Amino acid sequence: MRFETLNKYVLKCPRCGFETEASPYIMRCPKCGELLDALLIADKVKLRWNELRGRGVWRYRDLLPEPNSIVSIGEGATPLIRLRSHGNAYIKFEGTNPTGSFKDRGMTIGVSLASSIGVKGVIVASTGNTAASAAAYSARAGLNCIVVLPKGGVAKGKLGQAILHGASIVDIPGTFDNALEYVLDTVLINGSADHINYYPLNSINPWRLEGQKTIAYEVFEEVGVPDYVFVPVGNGGNIYAIWKGFRELMEHGMIDHVPKMIGVQASGAAPMVRYWNGAGEAKIENPRTIASAIRIGKPVNWFRAYRAVKYSGGAFIEVSDDEIIRAQAMLGKEGIGVEPASAASLAGYLKALGEGLIGPSDKAVLIATGHALKDPDALLMGNANMISISSINELRNLVMGNAIA
Ligand SMILES: *Cc1c(COP(=O)(O)O)cnc(C)c1O
Ligand SMILES: [Zn+2]
Repeated sequence: MRFETLNKYVLKCPRCGFETEASPYIMRCPKCGELLDALLIADKVKLRWNELRGRGVWRYRDLLPEPNSIVSIGEGATPLIRLRSHGNAYIKFEGTNPTGSFKDRGMTIGVSLASSIGVKGVIVASTGNTAASAAAYSARAGLNCIVVLPKGGVAKGKLGQAILHGASIVDIPGTFDNALEYVLDTVLINGSADHINYYPLNSINPWRLEGQKTIAYEVFEEVGVPDYVFVPVGNGGNIYAIWKGFRELMEHGMIDHVPKMIGVQASGAAPMVRYWNGAGEAKIENPRTIASAIRIGKPVNWFRAYRAVKYSGGAFIEVSDDEIIRAQAMLGKEGIGVEPASAASLAGYLKALGEGLIGPSDKAVLIATGHALKDPDALLMGNANMISISSINELRNLVMGNAIA
């Protein structure tokens, strides 16, 4: 069966070179088991960069799957905000997406595809944001949505969104890694999902990642090719997607080099950093960090993330939870509200500057992956500047500058 929607793509194994016609169902290489890359076929792409229209993910439809009907809630077109404290660093604020994280860029493609192939619904394992996004886009499409979550491990804002949008919430004992195992074992047979009613939209799904690569296109339109892009890394799909976006610009002659990709992990959940530094496997048990969106010990896209960092000339680095919290507060003071995982990119940038890995004149884009409201508990742990008063006079004194220094 041919899928017109995907006809400008092939699926190719980055490990053994196996290649097959694009299909929404096949995710792993039947020869070696590696996750397949969805690659654009150059002469089937009609890229008219000067005629791009509209805003957000679908502005770049020339470089995306093109389903007959598109399920969209206005994703993408997020602001790029220059830091006051570091003039060569720009925050790509993904918190302004419809459900408050970059996952929406992927879900608009993934759910449009699910809808066009006629499944009953979609299924995801999640630390929270994938669940919130899948729930909203499925609701929009009139599809069912099953989210599998680690019990007790999901930030309140995200869980609340999954409830609001009517997802079936399944919680399981253990971590996100266990939740993903449950989902993949349920829906994939020999790396393919073609027998099921519920379409898997975790980041193993290459079509979802196609939406996420548009972060690169937006950055390029605003500031060209930065020297560095800092990305918080959990499962490793997003850093790969952004790198892929820049690579495609290069393949289409728009740019002559890609930015160095820096993957940032929390010290208690840093399997990629361990692997980068010589450990035999990108796996750890019992990942721990306050940054729940990147509390992942067995990144399913580890090879994708590794290639993005390696071939771009970047690095994986780790930051402590304290550094993450401080970076979150620092962004807060600049008017940018992000959840803890998102602050890892600024924490990583500051660390890289401090250690001389990069210089202050290097242009860096820091991906702020999700909104502050996602994790209200983390905000309430901050140092509150609270003053209790009981009379109008006290407030008057305060405003006149008599009561506080
Ligand atoms: C999903 C997510 C990440 C991690 O992205 P991966 O593609 O899994 O590496 C980071 N931050 C936030 C806020 C997320 O929702
Ligand atoms: Zn293979």
